[in-house]
Amino acid sequence: MKFIGYRCSQCQTEYTPGEAGYACPKDGGNLDLVLDYSGIQRATTPAQLSQSRDNSIWRYLALLPVDPPGHQGTPLWAVGWTPLLRAERLGAELGLEHLWLKDDGRNPTASFKDRASAVVVARAEQIEASTVVTASTGNAGAALAGMAAAAGVPAVILAPKNAPAAKVAQLLIYGAAVYLVEGNYDDAFDLSLQAADRYGWYCRNTGYNPFTAEGKKTAAFEICEQLAIAADASHGVGGVSSWRAPEAAFVSVGDGNIISGLHKGFVDLHQLGWIEQIPRLYGVQSTGSAAVANAFKAEAHRITAVHADTIADSIAVDMPRDGLRALRAARETGGMILAVEDAAILAAIAKLGAEAVFAEPAGAAAYAGLEEAIRLGLVARDETVVVVITGSGLKDVPAAMRAAGEAMVIDPTLEALDAAVAARQ
Ligand SMILES: *Cc1c(COP(=O)(O)O)cnc(C)c1O
Ligand SMILES: [Zn+2]
Repeated sequence: MKFIGYRCSQCQTEYTPGEAGYACPKDGGNLDLVLDYSGIQRATTPAQLSQSRDNSIWRYLALLPVDPPGHQGTPLWAVGWTPLLRAERLGAELGLEHLWLKDDGRNPTASFKDRASAVVVARAEQIEASTVVTASTGNAGAALAGMAAAAGVPAVILAPKNAPAAKVAQLLIYGAAVYLVEGNYDDAFDLSLQAADRYGWYCRNTGYNPFTAEGKKTAAFEICEQLAIAADASHGVGGVSSWRAPEAAFVSVGDGNIISGLHKGFVDLHQLGWIEQIPRLYGVQSTGSAAVANAFKAEAHRITAVHADTIADSIAVDMPRDGLRALRAARETGGMILAVEDAAILAAIAKLGAEAVFAEPAGAAAYAGLEEAIRLGLVARDETVVVVITGSGLKDVPAAMRAAGEAMVIDPTLEALDAAVAARQ
């Protein structure tokens, strides 16, 4: 079995797969999954994986700590293998020769969170959990509700009462049992742990369930494989044999689980000897929700809660649940955790739109972070840079309207159109 145990990211205690389930029993630290790298090396190669016709996260089953889920042909098997898009115009604007956008809004429930939820649902099937539960303000719940629906597993979502209406609608449409908690996300989080305990439900909570990062790491695998395919003149026919890591990757940070998962993915590939270097990882927060960025700047080893207030609701977090591993991801790779203003996030939505990518604010924040990094001189012209766009703009249409401005209203005549076209120039 390739999954051989857990290691606490704080106290480094190791546990066997049967000994631990969620966080470290000693100190509550997030657990990293330990894989049998030499076993994986004996079992497969990058060239072999690249020959897979499975265009989903399950092409990387050999590196995942779960058995394959059932339900082939459902959205559970349509998660991942999202496009890695060349952004030539934005690259030229920023003075970068190799800029790429990984568009994870193109997942079945329209966010990066599907990667985690698909792996958690596979795990739930394996341990024969009757029901899955999560606390969520939006995308994680939608992803769990969607993936659970695909597998026919009942899902319970506990969301704070002020969760955005569009996201609550998505939960209900996927048929989850949705309970809106009078309180904030932290209240919903605590209640979900008690509920999991009382009813024996399997809990997906971010920064608590160690399998979420294992799902999220698949984006790192895809980036390295897709960069190799793009560089390969034979267009990947017969499978590309040497995968390529970028020099730097940018992703937004709320709880810090996505950047931790990406880090794990690059570390896995590096440990296997399949990539030459681990990219510098840059996490991006809003200045209105900057608990991890504050700790990075202060060179602290603890995180101090903030009162989050940002237009980017998916990264509005008072007390990040995976902040320490997010700090580790940035520090160990020579990256950084940056903070950008909401105005820069809104402007980034419009800039990405010009490359035909529609991002929700938390997705566009990563691009605003790249702009900031370039101002700070952190990225060189010839480096390969990937910006991970974590959620679709359709998730938050009011924010998109703020970024886009108003459309002109005209009379249905050619004269009126003439005047309007002239006024636009
Ligand atoms: C959850 C989420 C993030 C942040 O991920 P964390 O693991 O909380 O850091 C970023 N963007 C979108 C769209 C998200 O849904
Ligand atoms: Zn520990």
